[in-house]
Formats: sequence, C-alpha cells, structure tokens
Amino acid sequence: MKNRIIIVGRPNVGKSTLFNRIIGRRKSIVYDLPGVTRDIIESEAEWKGKRFIVADTGGIFERGGELFKSIEEEVKKNLSDAKAILFVVDAKEGLTEADRYVAKMLYPYKEKVFLVVNKVDNEKLQRQAYDFYSLGFDRVFLVSAQHGRGVDELLSAVCDLL
Ligand code: GDP
Ligand code: MG
Repeated sequence: MKNRIIIVGRPNVGKSTLFNRIIGRRKSIVYDLPGVTRDIIESEAEWKGKRFIVADTGGIFERGGELFKSIEEEVKKNLSDAKAILFVVDAKEGLTEADRYVAKMLYPYKEKVFLVVNKVDNEKLQRQAYDFYSLGFDRVFLVSAQHGRGVDELLSAVCDLL
C-alpha cells in the first residue's frame, strides 16, 4: 500500500500511544521508560473511508547523535517513502535538544511533516506548546494521544494529503 504514515520523535513523547489511538487498539506497547519500541511496528488503519498504513518507530529514531551510517540510510528511506510524517513532541517536557535533532533530520521532508504537540491534555497546557512553533514547521497540531483530544483534526488534515 502506498499510503504510509510514519510516526517519529524522541523517546517518551507518546508515539506509541498515538499509534494505538490511530489504529484503535493496543498493539504497540506504551511504557513509562523511554526507548521501549525497538523496531518499526506497522498496522493498517482507516479514517473516514481512507485506508493507510501507520508505522510506529522506536529505536531507529532514538539514537540521538550517534546515528550509524547504515541506520541513517534506513531512516532516510522510511522518511522519503512516507506520505506523511507525524513528528511527535511533548508539551509537558517542553522543547529539548533531541527534538531539535529530529527536526533537523526532518527538514528535507518539511512539506509532509505534521508537528504533533502531544500531552496537551487540557486547555491550560496549550500555552506550553508555543515554543514548538520555533521549530519552523507549517502544520502544528495540539493533541492528547492519551485522551484523544485533537486527534480527529490531525487525522483529517493528514488524510487530505493521502
Ligand atoms: P513513545 O516512547 O514516544 O512511544 O511514548 P509512549 O507512547 O510509550 O508514552 C510515553 C509516556 O507518555 C507514557 O507514560 C504514556 O502514558 C504518556 N503519554 C502518552 N500520551 C500522553 C498524553 O496525551 N498525555 C499525557 N499526560 N501522557 C501521555
Ligand atoms: Mg514507543
């Protein structure tokens, strides 16, 4: 299937939680410890009649500065193959160096990046999301993967690109 959506971001921002919410069941393991999802986990999903594959990434995007050449190639292949890239960050933790590192890796694919500011569980937390606009991505969505807040709007926008 050509419609492949890939979820990336530093450890512990809620990638697997978002993945599970999109596919509507628990397939990817959510842990409080960073870096638990080692490989890429994929699932078919459907949203308002549109079918796509969604991929949850762990290890390959979580090595920070020490990306080995072979892994870097794999990362690039996954990014260029994807129709949309969901770049997840954590509003509660705020903007980190690791986020900036991932952002840099994603700039060449900017046109299909959706910056997903996660853990915006309520309106009060919205103001904590402002910093992330400085990363320079056009599409920014404030969501709570855990509670489902904002996920509909995100998926509608993503599906417009498929
Ligand atoms: P990953 O490492 O990026 O895959 O992150 P996980 O999906 O495993 O989640 C890491 C932690 O963040 C877990 O404790 C989740 O329960 C928590 N988490 C995920 N989404 C949300 C959210 O929307 N709000 C809050 N408050 N916590 C969340
Ligand atoms: Mg995970």
